[in-house]
Amino acid sequence: MAKLVAPIVEDDAKSQPAEVVPQAVKTRPAPVRRAAPTSRPRPGELICGDCGEGNAPTRKFCRRCGNSLAEAEVVKIRWWRRIRFRRKPRVLAAGTRPARPGDSKKRRAFQSTLQRARALVGAMLLVFGLLAGFYPPLRTLVTQQVGNVKQKVRGAADTALTAIRPVSVQGTKGPANNPPKAAFDTFKNTSWITAWNEKKPPNLVVQLDHPVALRKAVILTGDAKNFAGHSRPSVVEFTYSNEKSDLIQLKDIPGPQEIALRNAVGVSKITVKVLSVYPAPDAKTIALTEIELFGIG
Ligand SMILES: [Zn+2]
Repeated sequence: MAKLVAPIVEDDAKSQPAEVVPQAVKTRPAPVRRAAPTSRPRPGELICGDCGEGNAPTRKFCRRCGNSLAEAEVVKIRWWRRIRFRRKPRVLAAGTRPARPGDSKKRRAFQSTLQRARALVGAMLLVFGLLAGFYPPLRTLVTQQVGNVKQKVRGAADTALTAIRPVSVQGTKGPANNPPKAAFDTFKNTSWITAWNEKKPPNLVVQLDHPVALRKAVILTGDAKNFAGHSRPSVVEFTYSNEKSDLIQLKDIPGPQEIALRNAVGVSKITVKVLSVYPAPDAKTIALTEIELFGIG
C-alpha cells in the first residue's frame, strides 16, 4: 500500500524567496471613509457611494476617492428646497477667482447671512400668506390695501386726463332756465330739464372743437334743488362721431357718478340719449344737473 507522504526537501534554501533590492516602504492606501462632501451636491449630481462626494453626472469615477460611480445615486431636490429661489451656480470666466483671498471669508459670511435672510423672509411671507388666507379680518385688510394701491395707480393715470369742454351743446329743449347747455356749464346749481317721452328719447348733442380720446364722464342726475321733483335718467347712451357708443347704467343718487368711457377714441361729437328713467311720482319731466367729460387731447 502506497503511503501519501510529503516529499522530503533536501535543500532548505530552495524554498526561500530570492533576494531583492531594498525598496521604499509601501504605505497602504487609507481606507475610504465617508466624509462631508466638499460642496453642497447639486441636483443631477452623482453622490459617491463610498465617500459621499458630489460628482458631475458625466463622471465615471469619484473625483475625490476614485471609486466607480456606476451605482452612485443621483441627487434629488426635496420639494421644500424646490420652492425656494436658488441662485444658479456662478460660472467664472477663465483666469478669474471666486473672490480675492483677503475678503473671501467676509464675503462668505455675508453670503450665508444673505441666504439665511432670504430663507427667513420666504418663511415669513408664507406664514403671512397662510394667516391672510385663513383669518378673515387680516384677509380683508390685505384686500383693502391692495385696493388702495390699485386706486392710487388709477389716480395717477387720472391726473393725466384733462377736462374736455364742449364748444356747443344742442338738444331737446325745456324751460328757458334749464336749456341743454346747463348740463355742461360746470355749475351744480343749474340743470337741464325736459319732457320725458319714452318713444322719443330726449337727447343732448355735444360738439368738441377737435377730436379727443374721452376716458371718463362724471354725471350728476336730477335737479340739485329738487332731486325728487323730476324723473332721473337711469340708462343713458353715448353715441360718438367714431360711430361707436357706450351704454351707461346710472344709480338713483344725488351725488356724482364716475363712468369709464371705453369706445370714445378720436371723438369730436357726442350724442347723449336718455333711454330710461327712475320715475318721479307726479312729474312728466327729467332733470340732469351736469355731465363732465375727461380725456386726452
Ligand atoms: Zn468618492
